[in-house]
Parts: sequence; structure tokens; C-alpha cells
Amino acid sequence: MADPDCIFCRILAGELPARVVEEDERTIAFMDIAPATRGHALVIPRAHSVDLLSIGEQDLQAVILAARRLAARAKERLGADGVNLINSCGAAAWQTVFHFHVHVIPRYEGDPLQLPWVPSPGDQDEIAAVAQELGGP
Ligand code: AMP
Ligand code: ZN
Repeated sequence: MADPDCIFCRILAGELPARVVEEDERTIAFMDIAPATRGHALVIPRAHSVDLLSIGEQDLQAVILAARRLAARAKERLGADGVNLINSCGAAAWQTVFHFHVHVIPRYEGDPLQLPWVPSPGDQDEIAAVAQELGGP
């Protein structure tokens, strides 16, 4: 179940240090080593799975619920004004650690984080075409 080459499995095994902030039967949450904002934490399943598409449903549910608990705590205890939950699935989507994780990133009014794209209206025909592809039979 554990992958000896996986740094998050090694954290779970106690071989690498981590500042744990929350844990339950299926999940553990610890501080990100390179925080985007004050309080940035990661929630992971105890069982190794690579990404969003391979994690089991019960683990996924447990991780999301743990992330929500942590988000609430970031607001209550750190005075966060909002929270981003982020998951990257695949290298093309910026995933760098291949043990499923959800980033819990507390947000503060005026903090310097920005959306990675500049929203602007899309081409309606293109949107309709891709909707067919995505949602069609
Ligand atoms: P991602 O790019 O979505 O795969 O995120 C991986 C995250 O893991 C990054 O935000 C890293 O800063 C974080 N990270 C990597 N190694 C460690 C570690 N040993 N302890 C805590 N966080 C880590
Ligand atoms: Zn792992």
C-alpha cells in the first residue's frame, strides 16, 4: 500500500518530519513546506493513491471532509477571510507529488495570490462544441 519512493508515504511512516495539524482514521493533514499563505496545509489519505482519478471513494470523501474542517479552523483560528482548496491531477496540471493531496490555502483580504489565468469571455461556438464532447453520449 505504501510506496517507499513517495515522500508523503515516508511522512506517514515517520521517516520524514511534518507538522501535523489534524488526523483521523483515513487522513492526515500537515503544513506545506513551501506555504503559499500563512496556514497553507495539505490533507492526504493514509493509503497511497496517485491522484484524483485513482483514489478510492471513501478516502476521497474523508480527505474532502478533513479539508473542510481545516478550512473552518483557518477562518476561526487564523482569521482567514476565505480558503482555496486546490488539487492538481497530473504533471500537466502542476502535480509534483504523486500521492493524492488537497491543498488548504487560507486567504486573506489583499494577499498577493492571483488566479493563474485572466478571465475573459470565451467563444460561444467553441464552448458549445466542447460541451458536446464532454457531456454527450
Ligand atoms: P503539488 O504541486 O500539488 O503536487 O503539491 C505538492 C506540495 O507538496 C507542494 O506545495 C510542496 O511545497 C509540498 N511538499 C513537498 N514536500 C513536502 C514535505 N516534505 N513536507 C510538506 N510539504 C511538502
Ligand atoms: Zn504515498
